[in-house]
Amino acid sequence: MSKAYRFNALLTETGWLNNAVVTLDENGCVLSIKQDDLAQAENINGFALPGFQNAHSHAFQYAMAGLAELHEGSGQPDDFWSWRSAMYDLALQVSPEHLEAIATMLYSEMLRHGYTSVAEFHYVHHDPDGNPYSNLAELGSRLISAAKTAGIQITLVPMFYQKGGFGKEAESKQKRFISKTIEDYYRLLESSEKAAPYYDQAKVGLGIHSLRAVTGEDIIQVGRNFGNNRPFHIHVSEQIKEIEDCKAFYQQRPVEWLMNNMDLNPNYHLVHATHLNDDEVKGIATSGAHVVLCPTTEGNLGDGLFRFHDYKALNGSWSIGTDSHIGISPMEELRLLDYGQRLTTHKRNTFYLPYHGDSGLNAITMAYKAGKQAMGRSHESFFEIGQPFNTVIFDANSALMAATNIKHICNTIVYASDVSHILGTMVAGEWITFKGHHHNQGHIVSDFVKALRDLKSRL
Ligand SMILES: [Zn+2]
Repeated sequence: MSKAYRFNALLTETGWLNNAVVTLDENGCVLSIKQDDLAQAENINGFALPGFQNAHSHAFQYAMAGLAELHEGSGQPDDFWSWRSAMYDLALQVSPEHLEAIATMLYSEMLRHGYTSVAEFHYVHHDPDGNPYSNLAELGSRLISAAKTAGIQITLVPMFYQKGGFGKEAESKQKRFISKTIEDYYRLLESSEKAAPYYDQAKVGLGIHSLRAVTGEDIIQVGRNFGNNRPFHIHVSEQIKEIEDCKAFYQQRPVEWLMNNMDLNPNYHLVHATHLNDDEVKGIATSGAHVVLCPTTEGNLGDGLFRFHDYKALNGSWSIGTDSHIGISPMEELRLLDYGQRLTTHKRNTFYLPYHGDSGLNAITMAYKAGKQAMGRSHESFFEIGQPFNTVIFDANSALMAATNIKHICNTIVYASDVSHILGTMVAGEWITFKGHHHNQGHIVSDFVKALRDLKSRL
């Protein structure tokens, strides 16, 4: 059965379409979008935006969100590397059932906050002893299953992870991550591809965990084989120590090495890219590759500030991700990204573009376009004919929205709203969350609490 919704307004790349009627086919794909006062349609008192794209997630880390903040007198430095050690301890304990329960909760929370797609940068592949599961993609399959239960679009990005550091064998704590050879990794990739058809909103990308995690020659080989036809994700230049280690090993900085050895192109998604020199900022921007920025995690881990101002001046492309899930609101990511720049440049126009001065619309548009590419999905316009209708709808009855002229709505959303202003989220034309509730909330929450009690990690 086809259906039709009428919204107060629907966001297009050129601005708002008032009284927008969207008709959908029986699969929830868009048949038509037009301004129409008369058509028969279900009236929804809200502002429809394209669903936000979460381009970087490690689902299991949601189980430790907020737990790395008790800094009690050990005298140890508390930095990214000590946080990583705690994260490894968690990664060693998680069973397939735990992972599915955690990811289902996390993805339903992402939907409640307005994300409709997630790219899952997945590197915990094996059982707790480091042996492959009989289904090599057992844990990847659990993530796809979680996405299906929650109702979010997923791009599973199984990661190649081979080494413990530049020229170093893997540590014992990393044993669940490791593909020893490129053939091992390709087998994992193949199993992941077989798991994807279980859910019609699942896709598979690929990638390298980081330059420190795979030998240079294998990184080059994976890039040659796949870097021109699907989203290729990689962590890069997040930490100063990583830059120093890379220089000591390759006599090149990480992004410099990528520029010299890989055919960087619009399929590449460089996650963090926090510490760049001028040539690297320019090299990424002119290659057409994208950066994936995760401001709440980067802030939480003390990584540093990405050179957004310089990168944007060169028309660099970027998306957002929630990474460790210390924050799962897209508005929070966009604001923190912006305010980091304002605090250092003493200017307020971070997202300004010469042809358009609406900061909120620009931020939504830039993050959306690169985010869709990170998912390996088409991105010609916010709502495409023939594509699933995925939207987050802000409540036109909320006090702030009700009193606001349409020309200020994008900025009210990005700079002055939170999850309480969201009426709901639809994927493929179906309400997945409505007024703060996910349609399967009861069992998702109870399964999650049970898994975390079993893990004992939050006690
Ligand atoms: Zn990450």
